[in-house]
Amino acid sequence: MKDQGFRIGLLVLALNFVLIAPSGRAQSGQTISLVVDATHAPEGIVRTHMVLPVKSGPLTLYYPKWIPGEHGPAGPISNFAGLKISASGKTIPWERDLLDVFTFHVDVPSGTGHLDIAFDYIEPSGTGSATAAASATDRLVVISWNQNVLYPAGTPAEQLMYQAKLILPEGWKFGTPLPVEKQSRSEISFKPVSLDRLADSPVIAGEYFRAIDLTPTGESIHHEIDLVADSAAALNMSPQTLKGLKNLVAESGKLFGARHYREYHFLLTLSDHVAHFGLEHHECNDSRLPERVLLSPDASFPVGGLLAHEFVHSWNGKFRRPADMSTPYYEVPMKTDLLWVYEGLTDYLGPLLAPRSELWTAEQYRENLASIAAELGPGRPGRTWRPLLDTAIGEPGVNSGRDWLNWRRGVDYYDEGDLLWLEVATIIHRETRGQKSIDDFCHVFFGGANNGPELKTYTFDELLRALNGVAAYDWAKFFNERLHSTSSEAPVGGIENGGWKVAFNGEVPKLPVRRGQPADRGEQYSLGLVLAEDGTVRNSIVGLPAFQAGISPGMKIVGVDGRLYTHDLLKDAIDAAKDSSHPISLLVVHDDYYKTCSIDYHGGQRFPHLVREEGKDDYLGDLIKPRAGGE
Ligand SMILES: [Zn+2]
Repeated sequence: MKDQGFRIGLLVLALNFVLIAPSGRAQSGQTISLVVDATHAPEGIVRTHMVLPVKSGPLTLYYPKWIPGEHGPAGPISNFAGLKISASGKTIPWERDLLDVFTFHVDVPSGTGHLDIAFDYIEPSGTGSATAAASATDRLVVISWNQNVLYPAGTPAEQLMYQAKLILPEGWKFGTPLPVEKQSRSEISFKPVSLDRLADSPVIAGEYFRAIDLTPTGESIHHEIDLVADSAAALNMSPQTLKGLKNLVAESGKLFGARHYREYHFLLTLSDHVAHFGLEHHECNDSRLPERVLLSPDASFPVGGLLAHEFVHSWNGKFRRPADMSTPYYEVPMKTDLLWVYEGLTDYLGPLLAPRSELWTAEQYRENLASIAAELGPGRPGRTWRPLLDTAIGEPGVNSGRDWLNWRRGVDYYDEGDLLWLEVATIIHRETRGQKSIDDFCHVFFGGANNGPELKTYTFDELLRALNGVAAYDWAKFFNERLHSTSSEAPVGGIENGGWKVAFNGEVPKLPVRRGQPADRGEQYSLGLVLAEDGTVRNSIVGLPAFQAGISPGMKIVGVDGRLYTHDLLKDAIDAAKDSSHPISLLVVHDDYYKTCSIDYHGGQRFPHLVREEGKDDYLGDLIKPRAGGE
């Protein structure tokens, strides 16, 4: 997954209850019928009708809670409404569990062979995170099946079979990796699949839809990108982005040497009215970006960055997954201590594939890496109290706050993974005297026969063994030092081994808007401020000059040196202070009060870059060169 880091913090865990929950009386082995009616999705409601084979007696039903890829108990139970259970037309009462709001208890009357279960999913507007956030507009919908399903307790998700039918608004088209059995106008019947496959195979649908083949020449496995948007114009992908995405598929084959899916769909939703993030699946990814992103001349940067990350997850996260994150069904909690591999390695390999695919330029790759090194170095005083490992362990529930991010740390296991795994790549190169590379490790760890979607779990020790098989090294010591460190310095060994170093100067980075921030934000590593466009303080880096002057997140800068705030004025003031002994004066609103903050800073605007270290080979440059030859 890749998003702004918001998580639902519902860690109210009744572990004992989970383990001793009654096994229920669902009829094992029989297919469950599921009809999801999305004809009213534009009005914000998706209706489900299930027919569940049962035996008489107590039955426990679950609404999916721990959602794969979202790394927490993020199932949107608060949007689940209208539950009615009946048998042969007679209503059967249900009761929610006293300790777990995702669990429902039913007493199935004797002689009952199946239950009719009806409920609605209310499409949220403006609340929630990831798939639990806004997922439907007037012209499109993303169906995440876990939101539209209940399942009986007692059987692993891979053994529960569902026959799903989806009803769409008239004329809408759809994309999904789920195999279709038949289609009649806007009703699509899918082939029976297990619950884990169903939940792993979302559908995007809409009035404005386009599917583009991305299968590289000579490749036997089908790849495509399916697009839905809030307008027809937004579907226009440039030849350059299209070429880059085809290259991405080809480069992934070179990097991993194997695929573990029957076919692959990039599902891309383009709308300003849905949440923006990406969520991985084995045979697809559910990625969501602003409506007109493809029309921007810089489209390949945001599109390539997000889609490369989510695509890599098909290998790292879906095919290979930490054993303690591989749970039999969605009620069982996950332990997230290896997210620095699941997400961290993905966050290294995705941006590695982006320049190899020519979705990013080499310069964009380096500038992006420099900005990560800066964010995690001077931008992250929180690393002095919170080790990297704790950002992973704390994921379910701890990392949702966005203000004071520099002190909290949040989901640093993503970005620090870029630095950590780059260092691994350079150590493999060094220790094998150039005989082996990170690609060799990927072939070993992610290779093997393609049996379709398959899960092969690993532990920390198994990861170390795989690395040692490629390059003999004390990897346990290396990772333990990095994972437990409370140094204020970011781990930039990989950048330095690669022939570069991080340096700050007054030049604006040559990067498109990155994570909502334009490149010309020279106040971040000078005053220590991260500002919204209107001057609202998103972050004030603990210990830097603005923080010392009393400015903290949530305040708003409204004046600069006696004049109404604009970002240009702030830049001018930082530049002017360089040649002056006068402090910069900022007028700030805090709640209903004005205050003037005086910042005694004279170092000018500062931006992070990578600069070459003379005398060292440019191994960083070698790592990002195309392998597949391009289309
Ligand atoms: Zn991810």
